[in-house]
Parts: sequence; structure tokens; C-alpha cells
Amino acid sequence: MTVLSGSCSCGAVKFRLTSAPMFVHCCHCTDCQRQTGSAFVLNALIEAERVELLQGATRGYPQPTDSGRPHVIQRCADCGTALWSNYGGREQVRFVRIGTLNEAGTLPPDVHIYTRSKQPWVKLPGGGVGATTGKPAPVCEEYYEIAKLWPPESLARRKAIFG
Ligand SMILES: [Zn+2]
Ligand SMILES: [Zn+2]
Repeated sequence: MTVLSGSCSCGAVKFRLTSAPMFVHCCHCTDCQRQTGSAFVLNALIEAERVELLQGATRGYPQPTDSGRPHVIQRCADCGTALWSNYGGREQVRFVRIGTLNEAGTLPPDVHIYTRSKQPWVKLPGGGVGATTGKPAPVCEEYYEIAKLWPPESLARRKAIFG
């Protein structure tokens, strides 16, 4: 595949993904809506070691969560663009904001989650097929079963980092 590269809006941070992501989320939860100021967030889930920081520095911003589990957004230390998140204190996986990638349009969602709180004008399924599954993205009111939706190769990658 082509190497996906990304940057913040001021250009201080540049990074690239050294492989395809394991899975792609489109999250419609109210936290993501507030944190992005938009209708949903698009995240590419990938091993932290496959996110190569080419230049610049990020700064972590812990977010309040309903569950009490940690969520830290890494932003450009200069301009504040959100680049990726770590959830649950798990440093091994990053949720990379797909809008920061130069090739954002090549990563359509594999699943729509927390659609119970989606904006009423968002019509789902949105068409197309998921970036890693190659199938139309299921629409889930809340979360989903990873073992059921992730491709076998992605499950193997996940097992390699979490055991
Ligand atoms: Zn920046
Ligand atoms: Zn969310």
C-alpha cells in the first residue's frame, strides 16, 4: 500500500503510518462530537510503533470520560491540532485522526459506533466499504465485538501487542 503521511495544521508535526491500520472507526459519540467540534470522528487504529514521528513534538491532553478510564489526546505542541488518542491507558495502540492524513479519503470506516447519539441528518450506512474489511460498515448503537468485525490479520496484530 502507499505510505500514509500526516501533519498538523501548522506543519510543525509530520508523521507517517508504516503500514495500513488494523481497523477504522467512525465514532458518533457525544464526547467525540465535542472534542472535534464536528458530527463524528474518524480514527485509524494502529500500533504506536507504526506511527513514525518525522518531526515536531506532541503534547498530551487528558480528557474527562464517563467510564473514568483514561483518554489522552496528543496534539501538536505548537498549534494544538489533535493528531491521535490513547484510550484506557494503553500506549500500544493509537487512534490516529484520519483528517490529519494527506490521504484521508483512502480510509473509509469499517464500523459506525455510538450511532445512538449521531446527528439526526447523518444517514447511515453511508455507502462504500471499510478500509480494512472491504465490507459495508455495520451501524452499531454502542460498541461492537472486536472478534466479530476485525479481519483475521488485524486480530493477529492486536494479539501480538496485547497477548
Ligand atoms: Zn502544529
Ligand atoms: Zn467517540
